[in-house]
Amino acid sequence: MMRVALTGGIASGKTTVSDAFSELGVPVADADVLSRQAVQINSPGLKQIAERFGNTILKADGTLDRAKLRSIIFNDEKARSDLEAIVHPEVRRLTNNQISSFEQTGHLYCLIVIPLLVETGQQKRYDHVVVVDVPVDVQLQRLQARDGSTDADAKKILASQASREERLAIADSVIVNSAGIEDITHQVQALHNELTALAKKHS
Ligand code: ATP
Repeated sequence: MMRVALTGGIASGKTTVSDAFSELGVPVADADVLSRQAVQINSPGLKQIAERFGNTILKADGTLDRAKLRSIIFNDEKARSDLEAIVHPEVRRLTNNQISSFEQTGHLYCLIVIPLLVETGQQKRYDHVVVVDVPVDVQLQRLQARDGSTDADAKKILASQASREERLAIADSVIVNSAGIEDITHQVQALHNELTALAKKHS
């Protein structure tokens, strides 16, 4: 099965685009959802975190106290790298499980949405990278309209992510999301045809 990663900056339209692939029957997984699963209550990931940081990192209901964990790793590089050494392999394991279960369905390719693909250097693990691209001014406008954030806050978030150019540099395919939703449906259909043809060669 061909593994396709889909990435893009905040509010670039990843969900809008991945929903369009889902509607075409493509199996889609979301790295953000898998990251939450990796530390959900009673998970092996959360058990390891409690062993490393102590049970006080858990709330009374047994779930992870994210605010407390954030404050611990904020100024402690060793704590941060220990946390990453626990969480990253767990996310990889869950992603691989998800892809294996997709393989049972007989689809030719699957799509994994990974917002921070460039930032985490994971592109090499995928056969094909799709980037959702928007001009920065459109991105800022959509981000503010959706989240009600100020211009300054929206710019700060963009500055903390990889740049548009860095993402485009690793793209095998680009979906340009600067026009309307109608246009997305057409672009996704065309790319789906291309990916299906590529996946046939891949298998
Ligand atoms: P995040 O990075 O926060 O997960 P995202 O990349 O998944 O966001 P979406 O949630 O799909 O982005 O889109 C961001 C916002 O822009 C949403 O409010 C969405 O409705 C809007 N939007 C997306 N594509 C278009 C478009 N082509 N035309 C108009 N609005 C759009």
